[in-house]
Amino acid sequence: MLKVLTVPAFNDNYLWLIHDDTHAAVVDPGDAAPILDALRAHNLSLVAILLTHHHNDHVGGVPALLQHAKVPVYAPRNDRISNVTTSLSEGDNVHISELDLTLSVLDVPGHTRGHIAYVAKEQGWLFCGDTLFAGGCGRLFEGTPEQMLHSLDKLAALPDDTKVYCAHEYTVSNLRFAQAAEPGNQAVSQRLEAEQAKRARNEPTVPSNIALEKATNPFLRAREPAILKTLQGEGRVKGGDTVAVFGALREWKNSF
Ligand SMILES: [Zn+2]
Repeated sequence: MLKVLTVPAFNDNYLWLIHDDTHAAVVDPGDAAPILDALRAHNLSLVAILLTHHHNDHVGGVPALLQHAKVPVYAPRNDRISNVTTSLSEGDNVHISELDLTLSVLDVPGHTRGHIAYVAKEQGWLFCGDTLFAGGCGRLFEGTPEQMLHSLDKLAALPDDTKVYCAHEYTVSNLRFAQAAEPGNQAVSQRLEAEQAKRARNEPTVPSNIALEKATNPFLRAREPAILKTLQGEGRVKGGDTVAVFGALREWKNSF
């Protein structure tokens, strides 16, 4: 049986270890030290490194992990990362034989140009880096609103019960923004309360799931009339074009 271990790093990052109590694959090791500690603590041997995009808080630990174990490094084809052994883009599959794990790759540009996501269909898991967050989405550093909207649409089309393993603990502040964007959405208020309670107990709010994101995440709800109404009321958008609404929403969140 495969499991996913949450490894907190830096201020608010989550690194993920997929393991079977013997072998482990790590997703986005921005820092090697907490991963090496977790491998030791759980008596796991590292067999693969999976990267979603080139930012240092996702790849910074790779050189030190490779000193510890010479393992394959999977990464996006279009995202300028060193030490990569297999470059990936949409339609590719990764099979990690030690874990009997198959991941399919989606192109999800927007946060970075080459950002990819990994989907474990059999397990119902999504590793989406800085594309979809619980209650929010990543900043558009290299891509356009249109690209990010299209990327999020792909993720929203995954089965409802897919677990969303995103890379940061931003959920409470994301949901405060969701409340401002869509004040009448009861699911948002309920979720905000529940996630605040988890944080008060020092528990992660991640993983989330696709159904919950579709119900509460404004960046998956850019076609909702209520969101358009808020943005128009704030003078942030004129027409009702979905890309414009999405762009205005992202822009507002940047300064919220
Ligand atoms: Zn990033």
